[in-house]
Amino acid sequence: MMTSANVTWHEGVVGRAQRWSSLGVRGATIWFTGLPASGKSTIAAATEARLVGEGRSAYRLDGDNLRHGVCGDLGFSTADRDENVRRTAEVARLFADSGSIAIVSVVSPFESGRRAARALHERDGLHFVEVFVNTPVEECMRRDPKGLYARAVAGQLTGMTGVDAPYEVPSSPDVELLGPCDVTDAVERVLTALEPARAI
Ligand code: ADP
Repeated sequence: MMTSANVTWHEGVVGRAQRWSSLGVRGATIWFTGLPASGKSTIAAATEARLVGEGRSAYRLDGDNLRHGVCGDLGFSTADRDENVRRTAEVARLFADSGSIAIVSVVSPFESGRRAARALHERDGLHFVEVFVNTPVEECMRRDPKGLYARAVAGQLTGMTGVDAPYEVPSSPDVELLGPCDVTDAVERVLTALEPARAI
């Protein structure tokens, strides 16, 4: 965790245990990683809809959406991508601590950033579920809903993950979804990893 000089932590009156039990919630973070167009946002949105439909507090933190606000000042250099992942992890941790299920979908191409996101949560006693949406790059390029792969291949866009920027394959994700996969099945597998009791 980064610490700022001359700033001390202000403890609230209500702690996590009291907050969660009083509100009847249980916070956690689900972190979707994978190539652009692998299906992260689609599965994240379906997971959010399923949880909210069950009366749970769940909130999606979509990488593209965060770049409109919290991360609006960041580009796609390695340093900016790292900062994008760091901020996203910090925001997710706050949501999880508040009792919500933060559902992150962000390419997060580097193992170090994903490991740091997990450590940030686990140090704070928060459950973190890493989901690798493993769709082959050929399929992602075929989908290409935003035309980014086509532009990268044509040389009009540089630093595109999967074309001329690296994606480090997760070494030990909690869930690996081999794409293209059925979205309903994918949500089921994610929720089982979130709460193993669901499988019983
Ligand atoms: P990402 O968030 O990883 O960039 P998206 O969720 O936006 O990917 O999906 C990219 C494209 O692939 C979209 O056009 C979406 O409709 C399609 N897609 C997503 N998931 C699936 C799936 N399981 N099967 C087939 N197509 C999918």
